[in-house]
Amino acid sequence: MRVTPFVLPLAAQALVAPRPHMKRLSSQRPAAALEDYCPPLPEAFEAQAALTADGAAEAYKASLDDPSGFWASEADRYHWQTPFDRSNVYSANFKRSAGPIAARWFEDGATNIAYNCLDRQVEAGLGDKLCFIAERNDEGETSPLQPETYTYAEALEETKKLAAALRARGVKKGDRVALFMPMVPELAIAMLACARIGAVHTVVFGGFSRDSLASRIASAGATCVIAADGVRRGGKVIDLWGIAKDALASARDQGTPVAGGAVILRRLDDAAYPEPQLAADEAWWHNVVTSTDGSDVEWMAAEDPLFILYTSGSTGAPKGIVHATGGYMVGAGHSFRTVFDAPVRADDVWFCTADCGWITGHTYVAYGPLLNGATQIVFEGVPSWPDAGRLWRIVDQHKVTHLYTAPTAIRALMRSGDDPVTSTSRASLKLLGSVGEPINPEAWRWYREVVGDDRCPVADTWWQTETGVIQIAPTMASGAGPHKPGAAMTPVAGCVPALLDAATGAEIPAVIGEEAKGLLVLKQPWPSMARTCWGDHERFENTYFSYDGYYLTGDGARRDADGHYWITGRVDDVVVVSGHNIGTAEVESALVAHPAVAEAALVGVPHDVKGSALYAFVTLTQDAEGQAGDELAKELKLRARADVAAFASPDTFHWAPTGLPKTRSGKIMRRILRKIAAEGADVSGLGDTSTLADPGIVDELIASHAGAS
Ligand code: ATP
Ligand code: MG
Repeated sequence: MRVTPFVLPLAAQALVAPRPHMKRLSSQRPAAALEDYCPPLPEAFEAQAALTADGAAEAYKASLDDPSGFWASEADRYHWQTPFDRSNVYSANFKRSAGPIAARWFEDGATNIAYNCLDRQVEAGLGDKLCFIAERNDEGETSPLQPETYTYAEALEETKKLAAALRARGVKKGDRVALFMPMVPELAIAMLACARIGAVHTVVFGGFSRDSLASRIASAGATCVIAADGVRRGGKVIDLWGIAKDALASARDQGTPVAGGAVILRRLDDAAYPEPQLAADEAWWHNVVTSTDGSDVEWMAAEDPLFILYTSGSTGAPKGIVHATGGYMVGAGHSFRTVFDAPVRADDVWFCTADCGWITGHTYVAYGPLLNGATQIVFEGVPSWPDAGRLWRIVDQHKVTHLYTAPTAIRALMRSGDDPVTSTSRASLKLLGSVGEPINPEAWRWYREVVGDDRCPVADTWWQTETGVIQIAPTMASGAGPHKPGAAMTPVAGCVPALLDAATGAEIPAVIGEEAKGLLVLKQPWPSMARTCWGDHERFENTYFSYDGYYLTGDGARRDADGHYWITGRVDDVVVVSGHNIGTAEVESALVAHPAVAEAALVGVPHDVKGSALYAFVTLTQDAEGQAGDELAKELKLRARADVAAFASPDTFHWAPTGLPKTRSGKIMRRILRKIAAEGADVSGLGDTSTLADPGIVDELIASHAGAS
């Protein structure tokens, strides 16, 4: 990192905010004040850590000094059917002024990620090691036709059989296959089977509607669909095949033939889901996934596409992000091993709660753990079913060592209090991870102190569908830390972050001792970066490369005086009040630190004098629901004033007892809240709402607009 003294330009000075001062504490935890709370790495973690901070620092340095050498030696961990050109490990262009945006890694090499996940592990003697442990929606539930566990050898066998079945349906290298399944091991197996034969998978989260699925099938031009009959989610049965069948018909109406028809996993029994009639080109998984004949590996050029994945749609219409075989493989394997302290020991059990419908489920369920020979839980249910203790019971039952989940889940579970957690042991846990949104310091602290019994460090990991793997995260290794609650901290190997001045676009030099705030960009190409938006390279260039020489993340960040990064939210979400730039995350964290507040989302509304005023949507904890009103609003205003700044005090509080509108991946959709705050009951034109998890919440917020404090 360049360290040159400099004077902040005026516009950038406005972006520099003091460290958040979070003075008050949750009433349940009257220990050190949150502003002073920055605990050391737990001794219990350091004592058993597989990695060292020195090793991590050396690796980081090597990845910057010699990216080609660093990533070539990472790539050497895997089988390459044809070696890549070591004199040309990568080439990239991040400048539109210099020609089309491109990145190419491991040129001339041929490999297969599914082979490296499974065949290679079995050949190395891991055949009998547990690969997947299924955990169903209901406790103790088993699946009528699928096994509850797969060893690496069993996962390989099933993958080969499905690969052969897909080939028999005409699926070949380069064809797209849409997957619409619950979180069962067979979903990861379906991804691996596609990869084995060179088909490009596009996983669509099983909570999507017919139209959302149809548009993804059509946009990807899928030739085949793999679905399940249905799944229990909480207390409901979701008719996945009913949705998929309609979506197939709709995609065909839109001109996508889907010549390979559908393969359907029989997940439920007759009682829950009477066996439907299938058409001639539709088949049950258990009837066609029967023989490994014809399952030879298709060797893929490193740059051949591996998958298309549509983003969450937090900021607009979802983008079909394309990842390439070789670079993604090398990046995913490296990331899983190094960010989470190598959870691959014989007694390590990895548990990532993300669905494979999102990038986290791709990199940290389907691929990263398998590339490293890890054992993992695949959880079909939700953290709140049948009650808020479910995750912790899963941890105890399977002796989970590494848990990776999202702030939305942590805040929801926090809302139910400590008892569901403290009534379980959780003694097996070693490390806790968080991803998806900024984690508020209060939630961070609860995660570490209550869930992790202060024995487990918390890794707040920042990344995106487009980056393929985690980019900024605290170093999890002995000798690292302390880690700052709410900070993503430091770049991982290969990542060179920088901040651009929002007003001038100029890079703000990193100076130890100087704070800075700006647009978060990445400067150096990395193997697992997205290659394009499916069928729309122009959108890719316009969205991510509008500043010559930089990959623009779309997120804002603060770099503190120690050089550590704090994600402040989406750039679109920055609110300018009386000339001050306010990142929503900081104010939200101040509000969530109040014991009555479970969740908060801030947006800006136009204001005659201030330009914009802050408008807060707030959901209270179960115990505090009766407190909504002017008194509490006053208290929260004072808190924002004291903890962040006088100009950061919201003008309006909108109570949201049924919750905040979220994407199906659990992120708060602030663009919808902005519309509701500005337009109230007459709101119209909410934009693409297809990825909204619960449209009813939006209706309620519109109806309750007049009752804001
Ligand atoms: P879209 O691109 O369609 O708007 P999305 O950005 O929500 O959707 P994802 O790629 O799933 O889709 O999410 C990546 C975004 O999630 C990041 O750009 C960032 O805003 C947020 N994010 C992820 N992890 C973190 C984290 N640890 N801290 C803060 N923000 C995070
Ligand atoms: Mg995004």
